[in-house]
Amino acid sequence: MTRLAQTAGLTDVQQEILSTVRDFVDKEIIPVATQLEHRDEYPTEIVEGLKELGLFGLMIPEEYGGLGESLLTYALCVEEIARGWMSVSGIINTHFIVAYMLKQHGTQEQKDTFLPRMALGEVRGAFSMSEPALGSDVSAISSKGVRDGDEYVLNGQKMWLTNGGTSTLVAVLCRSDEGHPEGTAPHKSMTTFLVEKEPGFGEVRPGLTIPGKIDKMGYKGVDTTELIMDGLRIPANRVLGGTTGRGFYQMMDGVEVGRVNVAARGCGVAQRAFELGVSYAQQRQTFGKPIAQHQAIQFKLAEMATKVEAAHAMMVNAARKKDSGERNDLEAGMAKYLASEYCKEVVEDAFRIHGGYGFSKEYEIERLYREAPMLLIGEGTAEIQKMIIGRRLLEEYRFQG
Ligand SMILES: Cc1cc2nc3c(=O)[nH]c(=O)nc-3n(C[C@H](O)[C@H](O)[C@H](O)COP(=O)(O)OP(=O)(O)OC[C@H]3O[C@@H](n4cnc5c(N)ncnc54)[C@H](O)[C@@H]3O)c2cc1C
Repeated sequence: MTRLAQTAGLTDVQQEILSTVRDFVDKEIIPVATQLEHRDEYPTEIVEGLKELGLFGLMIPEEYGGLGESLLTYALCVEEIARGWMSVSGIINTHFIVAYMLKQHGTQEQKDTFLPRMALGEVRGAFSMSEPALGSDVSAISSKGVRDGDEYVLNGQKMWLTNGGTSTLVAVLCRSDEGHPEGTAPHKSMTTFLVEKEPGFGEVRPGLTIPGKIDKMGYKGVDTTELIMDGLRIPANRVLGGTTGRGFYQMMDGVEVGRVNVAARGCGVAQRAFELGVSYAQQRQTFGKPIAQHQAIQFKLAEMATKVEAAHAMMVNAARKKDSGERNDLEAGMAKYLASEYCKEVVEDAFRIHGGYGFSKEYEIERLYREAPMLLIGEGTAEIQKMIIGRRLLEEYRFQG
């Protein structure tokens, strides 16, 4: 049988990594995912397994102890993992973004300090842009870092940190006016601070509090938190890249690869929904035959499979563009937009195919139904993706008349 979402042109190494991950997902994640999710329980054993597979260091260069793999390999692994349980892909995603930002923008000392331990999963990353009053409008950030001798003093409140409790290194975006005259564009007066902390909740470092887990409709297991900075002192050498004022660009670079990652998650969740739908449709009988034999249901399956294929192709294209060294914001925006919308639609169709049983917590599709909406929001909403896509199109197709 030809499986959906195949990727042409993979190397032997890529194929081997993917088949190992797929095997791990089938044996270690799928059988326990729904149970853990219903209990909102952190998947400790699964995370240990991912560490052993080297997934925390998949894209970290070999010189720092990682596997030095491409964004494409990473995205295809994420797709497999999200097929098993989306929350697990969330656990490695913010880690991966912070490692990527360090690799691209960190000073040599910052790379030497963090990347080898990140590759082993000993240091675990989270990233923090959003605040209670803003998510899409990053330029409105009000958390602030003010220079005081060899340190910066950080104050402000952050919101929606994926892995806020379990991480030990948070890349926090703050305003920093130092060296930027009044009237400087908002995005030129922002700095990424590398904040080390203990895992857990409460005051995890003097001046830094992680209040507790936000209770969510889905995407459970993985902790999502607030972060409160009240006179938090950070050494000056923990400014990412060593220079203030570059934080906005650094974060946007991180979010760009994060978008490919969210697209990959959408592909994985949609694939699982298709698998569940196509299997159920052949077992459930109505009017004397399996519902898969009713044309209306076959049409649904056809639409679902087509969406799975299209989203996968766009995601792979966006990852390959980045790997080739080219700008990929247009492709990443399109892939994220399409894959998250299609994911929601495929999940809903699989849910409908399950009839009343889809509404029961006994069936896996119930979990997917609560997970898919997060992909419409995380790493930029659909509206924000369309703004990025629209702007880039007008750049490319500028009217010459
Ligand atoms: C589970 C979860 C995990 C998250 N993890 C992280 C994380 O790890 N780190 C982090 O920094 N953030 C994280 N976020 C935050 C996420 O990035 C934001 O929620 C997202 O960017 C949207 O921001 P908002 O919620 O403030 O919505 P808003 O920006 O307030 O938007 C509200 C609505 O208005 C629309 N809108 C906004 N501006 C425009 C416009 N100009 N034109 C048209 N429509 C517009 C939006 O599309 C949306 O529909 C997470 C969120 C969730 C739910």
